Amino acid sequence: MFTNTVILGAGAAGMMCAAHAGGDCLVVDHAKSPGEKIRISGGGRSNFTNLDVTPENYLSQNPHFCKSALARYTQWDFISLVDQYGITWHEKTLGQLFCDGSAKQIVAMLVEELTKAGAQLWLLTSLETVQYEDGQYQLTLLREGKPQKVRCKNLVLATGGKSIPKMGATGLAYDIARQFDLPLIDTRPGLVPFTFPEGRFATLAGTALPVRLSNARTSFDEALLFTHRGLSGPAVLQLSSYWHEGEDISVNLIPQTDLFTLLRDQRQSQGRRALTNEIARHLPSRLVEFLATELAITGRLADQSDAALQDLCNALQNWPLTPGGSEGYRTAEVTLGGIDTDALSSKTMQAKSQPGLYAIGEAVDVTGWLGGYNFQWAWASGHAAGRAIAAGT
Ligand SMILES: Cc1cc2nc3c(=O)[nH]c(=O)nc-3n(C[C@H](O)[C@H](O)[C@H](O)COP(=O)(O)OP(=O)(O)OC[C@H]3O[C@@H](n4cnc5c(N)ncnc54)[C@H](O)[C@@H]3O)c2cc1C
Repeated sequence: MFTNTVILGAGAAGMMCAAHAGGDCLVVDHAKSPGEKIRISGGGRSNFTNLDVTPENYLSQNPHFCKSALARYTQWDFISLVDQYGITWHEKTLGQLFCDGSAKQIVAMLVEELTKAGAQLWLLTSLETVQYEDGQYQLTLLREGKPQKVRCKNLVLATGGKSIPKMGATGLAYDIARQFDLPLIDTRPGLVPFTFPEGRFATLAGTALPVRLSNARTSFDEALLFTHRGLSGPAVLQLSSYWHEGEDISVNLIPQTDLFTLLRDQRQSQGRRALTNEIARHLPSRLVEFLATELAITGRLADQSDAALQDLCNALQNWPLTPGGSEGYRTAEVTLGGIDTDALSSKTMQAKSQPGLYAIGEAVDVTGWLGGYNFQWAWASGHAAGRAIAAGT
């Protein structure tokens, strides 16, 4: 059979692309349901976009690449689509928008949009081979175990990244990119918890607090969560995307406070108070117990010299840690790296060197922060490719 466009991957980007690709389009996915990552995202409520989307919220070898697509399909466009479907939503924190009801509403909306546009959806279908001959892609698909030959003019890579293989993530987009000589940027897990050897923080598991988490590249003011295996929480997930194996991170446990001045003043008025009690006014008591051993915090406030107070402040506000590693693709929310943006048009997502080949969503070397930015990239890049295909460019 011939169809104008085959989209590999019925995830966020693939379905959005199909909704705009002008019909005569086949969306293929090996999963039994479309949009599985949308369904589980945001704890089942999907953080589907953010009120404040800027190119600075994205990591890429080329930080300018995402600008065009994000400007042409904005968070307001997606919010208006969600509103048209009567899906109610709320802002949780930091501009992050979630469904009031269920993420399944977003999946159902996208399936309806692609169906209305005239696209077909083949689930439980995998790709066996692809070749480019006489200006067309010749695909051999395996649909529910049966081989099917499909020819198409446009082939869209929308199979996402490597994160969470248990949910069906594969490196298919990268394999096809390689087959057609598109360059790749090395991939690594992003938005992922840090692990530490020997259950270093196991006694603190479940303790959460607001911190400033930094490394040499950047810093985030968000919550940190101690876990049995290491550190998690939004601050950690965010910083993990800017972290490489073996590097140090620094935790400011009491940010936005001039701790030294505060402790020096308290020494004057509350000198008999135990130092640990004073610190417990700022930090959860379980953490203070832990730090008392780790940093040898003893004595009363009055016993501390200025230099000792300064050392303590440094230790609490610039606590250096070296993660042993990360939880890896098993739990990472995203994959950093991927198809090199240099190989793609930022307007259409089409490969510069291979006619009719497009790459969108997480498969491309554009990765968003935590907070709805990754879906907004999927919507925007899917829309850009879909519009270009519909226009016949
Ligand atoms: C647990 C979790 C929670 C998340 N929460 C959020 C959130 O709240 N907000 C946010 O912005 N981002 C979130 N993300 C990130 C977001 O889900 C992704 O960035 C986004 O889904 C990427 O869209 P995509 O279309 O490129 O890929 P995907 O949505 O991953 O879709 C890829 C599709 O391709 C299919 N596929 C893969 N390999 C093959 C193959 N070999 N053959 C056929 N089909 C294949 C898959 O089955 C899948 O349907 C979350 C991710 C995870 C893992």
